[in-house]
Amino acid sequence: MSDYKINTKCVQGGYAPGNGEPRQIPIVQSTTFKYATSEDMGALFDLEAEGYFYTRLANPTNDYVAAKLAELEGGTAAMLTSSGQAANFFALFNICECGSHIVASSSIYGGTFNLIYATMAKMGIDVTFVSPEATEEELNAAFRDNTKVMFGETIANPALTVLDIELFAKVAHEHGVPLVVDNTFPTPVNCRPIEWGADIVTHSTTKYMDGHGVAVGGAIIDSGKFDWMAHADKYPGLCTPDESYHGITYAEKFGKEGAFITKATAQLMRDLGSIQSPQHAFYLNMGLESLHVRMARHVENGQAVAEFLESHPMVEKVNYSGLKSDPYYETAQKYLPKGGCGVVSFVVKGGRQAAEKFMKALKLAAIETHVADARTCCLNPATSTHRQMSDAQLEEAGIPAGLVRMSCGLEDKEDLIYDLKQALDIL
Ligand SMILES: *Cc1c(COP(=O)(O)O)cnc(C)c1O
Repeated sequence: MSDYKINTKCVQGGYAPGNGEPRQIPIVQSTTFKYATSEDMGALFDLEAEGYFYTRLANPTNDYVAAKLAELEGGTAAMLTSSGQAANFFALFNICECGSHIVASSSIYGGTFNLIYATMAKMGIDVTFVSPEATEEELNAAFRDNTKVMFGETIANPALTVLDIELFAKVAHEHGVPLVVDNTFPTPVNCRPIEWGADIVTHSTTKYMDGHGVAVGGAIIDSGKFDWMAHADKYPGLCTPDESYHGITYAEKFGKEGAFITKATAQLMRDLGSIQSPQHAFYLNMGLESLHVRMARHVENGQAVAEFLESHPMVEKVNYSGLKSDPYYETAQKYLPKGGCGVVSFVVKGGRQAAEKFMKALKLAAIETHVADARTCCLNPATSTHRQMSDAQLEEAGIPAGLVRMSCGLEDKEDLIYDLKQALDIL
């Protein structure tokens, strides 16, 4: 599949049925797998033979879909997780341990921020947050001797900042650590971080990849490029024998291409669970088959809505990297030449009260905390998710009371604009 275009990989990647086999990927709805002898199964446990023994670690349906994701992102191996949160945790915890330090962009999803800042801190893992606009010197200054990984989001949810992936990768590599990029919002259709130097890519497949608001899920894709053995002192988990797994040294036995995902499967999935169910993997694949068609429409609608909002007198500010007025426009032209995604955020004039009135007047756009599926939805943090915060606190957190996040779905853009116009016109 590797020579085909991304559109073709979306439809046919990952699974090539043989003569007389099912055209659609089979859902292997089985927790266990049967073997003729104990030796057969022992070889699987020893990672000497390929195959399946228990769905907590791996399942054929998941692996078809993971193989498609590896093709889409240009990686060598991939795995599915039960959620985007699990994907980011596994990607980071596969290389960090108590005493490690992470350098992360401050402009990331709230759930990931909490994961790193609060939960991983309890495991003895420190973090330094850096601005996505930091200079090379500022990025370098955040590193310590115990830094094991750098992290950022291609397009941040919900701030919509765009990451300078090439710069982050350069700095990470100069310090001998890999760059992990959460590529949820653009999807590999609009950006492939590995081509810009990222080493590991993560996804909340719950968003555009599923695309229909059906199944929570996540994924990790390894570029196969990071040379763990060249930094063996930093990564004992990959470069020294795993006593909990028959003394295997992952980086030695599976090489650069396979070590990361094999360890995350054999060790983290075994001990922490969090695999995606085969049924969810099947839904995910259905979404992937039309991802390239849908992303183009999400971008078309996002761009049209952003341009309309920018022209409306009741709108104070619009954040969308496809707008020339956006501070991330130039960065987006480089990394997202086909556009970013369908999520736009904007500030209505008149603060909390105006935002509340505006939200009530919307007819087509539903009020939801979700983003990135076929149906357009809106959220005003000040009157919903962040309602306990005062206007001053909101301002300080960079969330003005009048801020609305809108995820443009696949409806007709003229209807979306009409809905916004009638709600803004009454303010
Ligand atoms: C939603 C989201 C997550 C978390 O994913 P879940 O599937 O909800 O666990 C992580 N990163 C980004 C960028 C997201 O948008």
